[in-house]
Amino acid sequence: MRAELVMDSEAFVANLAAIRARVAPAQHMLVVKDDAYGHGLSATAERAWAAGIRSFGAFDVRTGAAVRAAVGEQASIFVWIVGTATEAADAIAAGLEIGVGDALLLEDVADAARRDGRAARIHLKADTGLHRNGVRPEDWDGFVRRARDLERQGVLEVVGVWSHIAEASDAEDDAARDRFDVAVARARDAGLAPRVRHLAASAASFARPGFRYDMVRVGAFAYGIRPAGGPGSADLGIRPIASLRAPILRVSGDQAIAAVGSLDGLPSSLAGLVEVGTPGGSRSLLGIGAYESAVQSWPDARPGDVVTVFGPGGSGEGSPTDLAEAIDTIGEEIAVRVSPGIPRRWN
Ligand SMILES: *Cc1c(COP(=O)(O)O)cnc(C)c1O
Repeated sequence: MRAELVMDSEAFVANLAAIRARVAPAQHMLVVKDDAYGHGLSATAERAWAAGIRSFGAFDVRTGAAVRAAVGEQASIFVWIVGTATEAADAIAAGLEIGVGDALLLEDVADAARRDGRAARIHLKADTGLHRNGVRPEDWDGFVRRARDLERQGVLEVVGVWSHIAEASDAEDDAARDRFDVAVARARDAGLAPRVRHLAASAASFARPGFRYDMVRVGAFAYGIRPAGGPGSADLGIRPIASLRAPILRVSGDQAIAAVGSLDGLPSSLAGLVEVGTPGGSRSLLGIGAYESAVQSWPDARPGDVVTVFGPGGSGEGSPTDLAEAIDTIGEEIAVRVSPGIPRRWN
């Protein structure tokens, strides 16, 4: 008997529909980094494809290639962590679209495309204030002119312009958006015709219509992971999709011992701070060891009874964010920590 992570396909598909309704006519690029936020990359991508998602945000080339294998040739797959010429070549070979945020990478991608014989499809990244890769305003004009020249040589196609924002304060995001608009205008002035502009992740895509442009890159909300500190899932119209469930192994004194612990990804700092779902209602999670956890006074527990640590069937609204808030982190952090050794199962 051991713990498992159980996903609710219906809730996932409902979340995708809620996102589509919210952001239309912008498209939804489903972000699947970190093993689809811990939900299992291939199974997640297959279900998303069946539900009509046509664009995936895959982070790195390895993840992008795995998405390609899962959903086939028709999907548009975007990767934005490409560091070396070899990775650029692999990305082109797998038909991935590449986020390019510096001038040297632009040359590496162009060289790889010449060798491959196929034009690379790229999205130019403007730095709009975060200072994490992205071309600075003072370098942007030269960068887009070089991209235009390479496009005219048939070496690459500039599909998009994009950036990333902090989503921490509206004022900072507004300033980033202004810089983004300037970057897009300059790219057009240089003779490029990017079809896809994308800036927003989950929070801004829901709260700020003017940030949606042609596409939004949404991960967290698709998995029903609400932001720490609110708004709640019901307000957003999304539902948590994953339940971390663990069987009771034995009763020790008046505590029930569940088969999940810190080596399974449960932060031991949660001990004493959160409740879990049990057949008789919510109970405190009192202690978290390496392999096992102790659940508060539950003398009539039987081996095999199931504790829901988070997710539907858990305590409260059942979001991983509920746990995250108890230790001052974000729901994604809880979701991605669930050990790869814990089996994933989709209902
Ligand atoms: C992770 C990530 C996203 C998705 O963010 P969510 O808040 O999970 O929707 C979007 N864009 C980039 C560049 C990211 O790294």
